[in-house]
Amino acid sequence: MRLIFLGPPGAGKGTQSLLLLQRHGVISLASGDILREAIRGNEPIGKEADRFMKAGQLVPDDLITGLMLDRLGKLAKNQSFVLDGFPRTKDQALALDAWLIEHRHKPVDLIIDFEMDEDKILKRLEGRRICRTCGASYHMKNLVPKKPGQCDHCGELLQVRPDDQPETIRRRFVVYHRQTEPLLEFYGSQKKVRPVPGDLEIEAQYQALVEVLKKERLVA
Ligand code: ADP
Ligand code: ZN
Repeated sequence: MRLIFLGPPGAGKGTQSLLLLQRHGVISLASGDILREAIRGNEPIGKEADRFMKAGQLVPDDLITGLMLDRLGKLAKNQSFVLDGFPRTKDQALALDAWLIEHRHKPVDLIIDFEMDEDKILKRLEGRRICRTCGASYHMKNLVPKKPGQCDHCGELLQVRPDDQPETIRRRFVVYHRQTEPLLEFYGSQKKVRPVPGDLEIEAQYQALVEVLKKERLVA
């Protein structure tokens, strides 16, 4: 299966893609994670992306498109994947389509639209913490680490994501409505968009997602 996860920040895209990996071997390419990795590694691309991300703005199309298509090109052709956070603009979507055709990949099967209202998201993002070494994501209520304040994988201290300050989150909503939501129409005309509620508990949300995938015969 080849999926795109759309939906506002904090609607559960990253959490659900992790479950799809664990339970169905679907590889997730998460644009935000890949960018944060580049920042941690002091790569030039990371340096360029950092200021946009801190401000809650999108990084330039060329930068993220190059990065994501490069990663996509490293996957085996029949590998199932989720694109989490890419494409986020119409130009990115056009670049992705052109790339898939050029490399004789099948088109994307479905766009999953995680729906959630902003008050709930603001509340939820307050509880999000990430590991500053490996980037693993936790939630103080919904996805608690085994030891308080510490990463399960590397024992590092957890921190609030730099762009999870309330002001920056609001900026990201504005950006989402303006630049990313129009993609729903773009993919909607191809009849590929399927909604999944964003405000369910993790396991209930996963069941809702799998229900959609079953209907489309993407999982048994
Ligand atoms: P969220 O979905 O919670 O906003 P992400 O981790 O997906 O978080 O993205 C964090 C930031 O990374 C975005 O606010 C943006 O600056 C940058 N980013 C991620 N994906 C893209 C993209 N496809 N195009 C442009 N910028 C992106
Ligand atoms: Zn860690």
